[in-house]
Amino acid sequence: MTRTATITAVLAAGLTACAGPTPRVTDVPKPGTEPRLVVLLVVDQWPEWALEAKRAALTGGFDRLLREGEWHVGQHPSAATLTAVGHALFSTGEPSYHSGIVANVWWHRDIDKELKSIEAEDGSVTTKWLRVPGLGDAIAAAGTGGKAVSVSLKDRAAILSLGHTGTAIWYDPKRVAWTSLVSSAGSAGSPPVSSTEPPAWLAAWNASHPIAAHLHDVWTPLPETPGLAGVPDDAPGELGEKGFGPTFPHAIDATKDPANAIFATALANDLVIDTATEAIGAEHLGADPRPDLLVISLSAHDYIGHGWGQESWEAWDALLRLDRRLATFLGDLDAKVGAGRWAMIVTADHGASPMPESLHGGRISYKQIQDAANRAAIAELGPGEWIASADYPTIYLSRAALAQKPQDLAKAVTKIVYALRSFPGLERVEKTADFWGHCETRTGEDFILCISLDPERSGEIIYLPAPGWVLQDSKDGLATGHGSRQPYDRLVPVIMLPPGRTPHPALQKPDDTTIQMVRISTVLARWLGVTPPTSLPAASRQAP
Ligand SMILES: [Zn+2]
Repeated sequence: MTRTATITAVLAAGLTACAGPTPRVTDVPKPGTEPRLVVLLVVDQWPEWALEAKRAALTGGFDRLLREGEWHVGQHPSAATLTAVGHALFSTGEPSYHSGIVANVWWHRDIDKELKSIEAEDGSVTTKWLRVPGLGDAIAAAGTGGKAVSVSLKDRAAILSLGHTGTAIWYDPKRVAWTSLVSSAGSAGSPPVSSTEPPAWLAAWNASHPIAAHLHDVWTPLPETPGLAGVPDDAPGELGEKGFGPTFPHAIDATKDPANAIFATALANDLVIDTATEAIGAEHLGADPRPDLLVISLSAHDYIGHGWGQESWEAWDALLRLDRRLATFLGDLDAKVGAGRWAMIVTADHGASPMPESLHGGRISYKQIQDAANRAAIAELGPGEWIASADYPTIYLSRAALAQKPQDLAKAVTKIVYALRSFPGLERVEKTADFWGHCETRTGEDFILCISLDPERSGEIIYLPAPGWVLQDSKDGLATGHGSRQPYDRLVPVIMLPPGRTPHPALQKPDDTTIQMVRISTVLARWLGVTPPTSLPAASRQAP
């Protein structure tokens, strides 16, 4: 940059500053600045450290967000830094101990079966496991006629980010199509009425084959990607995902199941944003002064992280492409809703570990933990299958174990806890019964453990991985993972574009304000002009 250009840039920055300070995130928009559309954009598995490493290369949509918004570091409250838990938190403002969403999948003792967080006993989709109201319910309760719509590849992300009411849209790889759950508020005291019949516009959108048209695409890196990543394409620990190998190019139709492989491509972010843009027009989002909510959750970023790691060519390339796609999307919001008539929060449901290879960590499977726990139980109870499930973050004893005499069972649980405390890669193992109830009276890590648990739904033992250790399914290895209480999992970017904002020089780093992620739901509710879900009447809550 020449000296004159530098002076011009400094003057321009000064002039922008003279236009008035950037508004802080206000609880209630100033009169005349009320947004017509509030957008929550979730980048699935997006740690703060990864954005800071890539910020300088982002010159498109992210740069615009950082010229109009504030950049804070957000802190997720609990150790259950998982997709379902995080999306339920955005909507309800409540961690697991109140939301009832303890993991993506958990063991149900009464039916001896694992169910997904949005799956009923008969396999249908449901919001029944969510104990509290979400933003969709808050909008319905306000009676403004505002809408709540979400779009994601993942069912749990789309459904739990709204609560019990609204239009949730997600990708069904079996049908290579978008599918939906439309729920409206029931009459006083009765549950919401739900339908899996897609809205007419979504059926028409599916009929245009927006996804099937891409099943023969080949994902190749942008020219700048390798240099920016600064690591080899096959860095140690990279495995690939959904049938793709560790290195580029990634031909979708060369995988065993191309419709499923779409989940782990940069293209998938475009497909989600295309569908969200379609929804803005078809659902008339932001078309009138009754504020609407649009949640967009970009799941591909999570699968790409799991397969290749946040440092990989694939993760870099996906974010660079998202940077470009976002620039178009933000322009579309200006055109469709009106400049200054929309507000936005961009954040993540959880972070991720840097590659375990760089942290002297490693990888452990749930099966290894289950086997170690069972061996410890056998030492006390004799031969048997004493563990029903060890999926993070808790271990569930089997029905046979629970039928043992209480004193024998207590001794077995103590044996399991001590055995797992010496298991490599685990930092903390505890009896869950010691950590539930009266969470507000606990401090530090004890508080974090307490709010990660639901006394009715969690297992008997909780375990937390040590720094750099990644938990994985035994069948499905991971490059990196998330779900721990470590800062790389709990700290995520929060870019807030409040109503009434004025542009400023693009931010290059976050400010020093930490945002507690339990606040996101309330900020969104204030922008929407509705009562925050945490303040809705107790009648709409299910006791644990
Ligand atoms: Zn996630």
